[in-house]
Amino acid sequence: MQTLINYSRKYGSDPELVLAGGGNTSMKENGVLYVKGSGCALSTIEKDNFVAMDIAKLRAIVNNVYPDNDSAREAAFLADMSAAKLPGEEAKRPSVEALLHALFPQRYVLHLHPALVNGLTCGVDGEKAAAELFPEAVWVEACKPGFTLAKLLSDKLNGRNTVLLQNHGVFFAADTEAELAGLLGGMLAKLSARVTEAMPAVLPDVDISKPFTPDHIVYCGLGPVLPDTDNARLLYKDAQKINWYSGFFGGPLPLKQELVDFITHWEAESYRKKKSN
Ligand SMILES: [Zn+2]
Repeated sequence: MQTLINYSRKYGSDPELVLAGGGNTSMKENGVLYVKGSGCALSTIEKDNFVAMDIAKLRAIVNNVYPDNDSAREAAFLADMSAAKLPGEEAKRPSVEALLHALFPQRYVLHLHPALVNGLTCGVDGEKAAAELFPEAVWVEACKPGFTLAKLLSDKLNGRNTVLLQNHGVFFAADTEAELAGLLGGMLAKLSARVTEAMPAVLPDVDISKPFTPDHIVYCGLGPVLPDTDNARLLYKDAQKINWYSGFFGGPLPLKQELVDFITHWEAESYRKKKSN
């Protein structure tokens, strides 16, 4: 558990890797997944901020058949996720990405949203560049988060330790903290080598109505005015960096409107449920 807390804080404190309540981590031990609670900041995480869940129950969820309707499916999925919490954990809400963590066979999982990596995942040629640079990684095209994403990943994962999620971020999985550091460091080095110019001090403005990732929707809103909060400003700067980095990967590719609409609705539902708990 101390290893999990250590690397969560270490990577969670680096603004080049993750911002605000974004990103998450987990550990597996004796059939139990300890995964970050929804919305907690990694940089200051404590033992109690992790939710203990039954791995076998979580993994069984990907085989469930749910309704096609978005809100009916997500409600059923959330109920099943909730039922996978260990006794005593009822009051906690796990990360929405908990099931993705459970699908990796490795002991430790690290999920981050680095601007440099998202220059690739939000680039028009991102998939092509990923295949060249990281042939060992799984590429998952942008899709609805929650059950749809978990299902898609479970079909593609096959024991691999690196997953790039288009318009979202990256997952690394390893049995030791040193291996995790190696995977992250190796990816950042390869991407940095592709970025052949120094980042200008003043970056071009971006259109917040065309967000790159779910984080930008959650913290920046969709405009026309940026919310007057520190997190909104942080994520706006992040979007400017992604926009600039994406120039080395074929140019910027914002989230599809269909996904923006889904996430806007989904986040609202999550928030409402959280408040009513
Ligand atoms: Zn994420």
